[in-house]
Amino acid sequence: MEIVEKISEVREITAEMRRKGLKIALVPTMGYLHQGHLALVKQAKQEGTFVVMSIFVNPIQFGPNEDFSRYPRDLEHDAQLAREAGVDLIFHPAVEEMYPQKNRTTVQVSELGNALCGLSRPGHFNGVTTVVSKLFHIVQPDRAYFGQKDYQQYLIVRQMVRDLNFPIEVIPVPIVREADGLALSSRNVFLTPEQRQEAVVLSQSLIEAETLIRQGERSVARIEDKIREKITTQSSGIIDYVEVRSAENLEKSATINEPVLIALAVKFGTTRLIDNYVVEV
Ligand code: AMP
Repeated sequence: MEIVEKISEVREITAEMRRKGLKIALVPTMGYLHQGHLALVKQAKQEGTFVVMSIFVNPIQFGPNEDFSRYPRDLEHDAQLAREAGVDLIFHPAVEEMYPQKNRTTVQVSELGNALCGLSRPGHFNGVTTVVSKLFHIVQPDRAYFGQKDYQQYLIVRQMVRDLNFPIEVIPVPIVREADGLALSSRNVFLTPEQRQEAVVLSQSLIEAETLIRQGERSVARIEDKIREKITTQSSGIIDYVEVRSAENLEKSATINEPVLIALAVKFGTTRLIDNYVVEV
């Protein structure tokens, strides 16, 4: 497995693989790898596929008061995990390689970004779609893998690929969780032991909400209230949002009559965690 930092090197290597007839898979990450990232690699690794993982903490998707500078980084450990998982090439560019001068062109997907994380993190998804477009142009993958942990991000990237005719298949991968249900996240390292224990309330409240829907509850407001109540009574978490929306287009309605996304974002101290569940009805 090679680690390269220059766009020109990635282009050369992937062109060579393409000439050999291999399909290229891209797994974009911000590093500090865990089993969630590796699940994407596992799906990407198919016969005759050359797996490229990008590791880049993308400054333009962080707000001014967010955790860009303290976002955890450990390239050496990442390289070891990636190698063991079967990644063929790591692309680890410096910020100056990706943004050598002021970036004047951005990619914006309308509507899907105006809800959930898009409201609490203004500009975040434009940063994501811009960097993902750049990675798509640099790597030119046949397939790209995105975790459902960031479900809204997956929908937005899928929409971008359709709207801008990227010849790329966008493949969603289910959320990988700890034994107690907490969704794996690079940010979990910031949780104190107490916060870590309390954070199980997120997945538990989602499971309870799913059970309610299965039992016939169709009121979006009642489900959202139930989740909010559980989180506030059973943890010190401060709710950013708890929302039930269409799993297809994130539209909001009062009653559930199509597959829904139950999504939440909750802050434990300075650490903001997100989780979600898709429920088919
Ligand atoms: P990140 O490094 O957090 O930007 O994540 C890189 C990719 O890994 C994104 O597509 C995420 O959705 C995905 N991912 C992160 N955590 C998980 C998880 N627990 N399960 C599945 N995918 C994940």
